[in-house]
Amino acid sequence: MFSNIKIILVQASHPGNIGAVMRAMETMGLDELLLVAPKQYNHPDVTSMASNATKVVEKVTVVETLTDALEGSEIVIGTSARFRSISLPKLSARECGTLCLKNKHKNIAILFGSERTGLTNEQLMCCSKQVYIPTSDHYSVLNLAMAVQVICYEIKMASLQEQLNSSINQTVSLAEYQEIHSFYLHLEKVLNKMVFFHSNEPKKLMLKLRRLFNRVNLEKSEINILRGILNYIDKYEH
Ligand code: SAH
Repeated sequence: MFSNIKIILVQASHPGNIGAVMRAMETMGLDELLLVAPKQYNHPDVTSMASNATKVVEKVTVVETLTDALEGSEIVIGTSARFRSISLPKLSARECGTLCLKNKHKNIAILFGSERTGLTNEQLMCCSKQVYIPTSDHYSVLNLAMAVQVICYEIKMASLQEQLNSSINQTVSLAEYQEIHSFYLHLEKVLNKMVFFHSNEPKKLMLKLRRLFNRVNLEKSEINILRGILNYIDKYEH
């Protein structure tokens, strides 16, 4: 599903973590995993921790260098809990999910460092952005597989949100500028007639009301309801 997104583990040292990363990815629908010079890979802990992550297990690629792993990547993102002195633009895990979804047609690589050292400054400098997972102040470093889980979860959530937004957009017709503008004129006219503005500052109040309605994307049907209410008030004998 997210075939444009590669998860790259740089020099992972625990085979159990590699297996747990496979499971984390498969549960979230990602299956492109690259291992750069893992310390131990042919180890029973990989398969036992991977459990039923069959797609990732079948497709996993092992390469010698980070340069090999990054071949063809257009957006390279590094994950780290530590902020460095020479720093990159930072994104939270959530913002990273959104960025991945916005760049569906680009090849994206997300780098994770080794358990002992994390990503070195040099490895981080292959990236255009640093992603952090927000944590408590006193302990900010997650286990490698858990960090992968959080990042993949945010990608999955961003994609669910996108699906939701597009289904809402398909079923709903939003009111056009003219319709909204006419509604504001109508509202102002009725408020005036009700002498509502008497003790208020009419211009300021209308601006505030416009700002209120502008915050929601008014649908055509909602404008019709509001205009109906205004018509009703307008006809009502005071
Ligand atoms: N000892 C290392 C941490 C290694 S944890 C250090 O001090 O940097 C293994 C990897 O998990 C990290 O390299 C990073 O890729 C990821 N990770 C762990 N915690 C993270 C966090 N809070 N935000 C982003 N990535 C994190």
